[in-house]
Amino acid sequence: MDTIAAIATAPGIGGIGIIKISGPQAIQTALSIFRFKSKPNVLKEQIISHRMYLGDVHVPGKNHVIDEVLLVVMKAPHSYTGEDVVEIHAHGSQAVLNIILEFCLNQDDIRLAGPGEFTKRAFLNGRIELTKADAIANIISAQSMLDISMNASLMNGDFNAQIKTIRDQIISVIARLEVMIDFSEDIDDAPLFKDLAVQLNDLISEIEKLLHDYNNWHVIRNGVRIAIVGKPNVGKSSLLNRLLGKNRAIVTSLPGTTRDLIEETTIIQGISVVLSDTAGLHQTKDPVEKIGVQLSYDCLNTADIVLWVIDVSRTLTEEDHTFYNEINQKKIIIVLNKSDLISERHSPIPSQWCHPQVFISALHGTGIDTLKNNFVSMINNQEQYEAIPSIMPCMRHADVLRRTLKSLKNAYTGLCNQLFPELIIIDCLDGINSLDEILGSVYNDDILDCIFSDFCIGK
Ligand code: GDP
Repeated sequence: MDTIAAIATAPGIGGIGIIKISGPQAIQTALSIFRFKSKPNVLKEQIISHRMYLGDVHVPGKNHVIDEVLLVVMKAPHSYTGEDVVEIHAHGSQAVLNIILEFCLNQDDIRLAGPGEFTKRAFLNGRIELTKADAIANIISAQSMLDISMNASLMNGDFNAQIKTIRDQIISVIARLEVMIDFSEDIDDAPLFKDLAVQLNDLISEIEKLLHDYNNWHVIRNGVRIAIVGKPNVGKSSLLNRLLGKNRAIVTSLPGTTRDLIEETTIIQGISVVLSDTAGLHQTKDPVEKIGVQLSYDCLNTADIVLWVIDVSRTLTEEDHTFYNEINQKKIIIVLNKSDLISERHSPIPSQWCHPQVFISALHGTGIDTLKNNFVSMINNQEQYEAIPSIMPCMRHADVLRRTLKSLKNAYTGLCNQLFPELIIIDCLDGINSLDEILGSVYNDDILDCIFSDFCIGK
């Protein structure tokens, strides 16, 4: 293995920035540019692993100091990658970090790390399981508390353990099928087929549950799509700006200001949402406005939740009733805006419109928290959005589990039809092979490239 180096912290200015080096030349490389404050001429062997040393990075072969830094050496095999690893904690200036990295890369047998290469080495050196690498990729890209919670079973190994258990059970099915082949003369096959079919069916249900949870939760994970709709001038853009906490959309008293779709991502009480402010829904002959209105309808149709904004200071029209009939099958929150303009809070909404309603004033910011609470309870109250399951696959796992499911269903059909055990074993083995892809016990470069190309450089 060669030695690799990279800046491990995100680009930009920060309090500190870290350069990470891993491989057989890591310590030697660091020593060529680092001078200990406490003692001169420290040998590689004298450095204590996992201890921080204060010192300076200097221009190689010269006295010119670049930065005062902390150096920590983690000797193999007790490091993230399982190799000698050095971290140089410098001040977080991009210029300083680039110069130090450049010094490292100018040494012999050292090169810039590729995306996720440190973690890939950790896996190849047996330091972590492949599902842990998935977990690390997820945690780096996590955008909300929800992402972090959903990743917990990957991080703590529970998901890995469940997959291993399923794998063991498929092996036990294969073992019993082999007994059937070896002692075909002496055994009454029928009860055994039935017994194995029950066992396999339980495994199928277990995998279906994992996929069900994945499918339901990845919608939330990718952001709940919220469409803000309503007639022109009711306050849609003002509401978008309130929910985002910044002035993203132009607000004017002129109808038709928002002609295009404005889409922004934000977090509402830990849930990632994609908010869309739409052009006002109304009849128009203007060709540009027409496109905007069509876009609004498209957005409405694909939204998970609709915020229907109504100007509560005006009476409902026939158009509103027609619109309600068009959308009443969707998950709607009726947002009664401009409540600051009315003296008494009488809802103009007919009692048979049984969707949640919230009085707000987007202009003054009142009622926005209640609206957010309504949104969150709407998410939580949906049956499919129960508490986060304790074990949750990620996208790569779901992809593999779908194949496992197919193989096990074939095997199950084989058992029900009492096919030759040899044929059923082939399907069971396919199931095992796909599970091994999750566990990382079989892998090829394509699988590893796919996983690690999503990583950032430096991890
Ligand atoms: P949109 O066309 O539906 O996006 O509406 P805008 O957000 O552009 O707002 C239209 C007009 O209504 C602007 O003059 C806003 O200042 C005003 N407006 C929006 N929300 C409120 C509110 O809660 N109270 C009052 N009094 N005016 C509001």
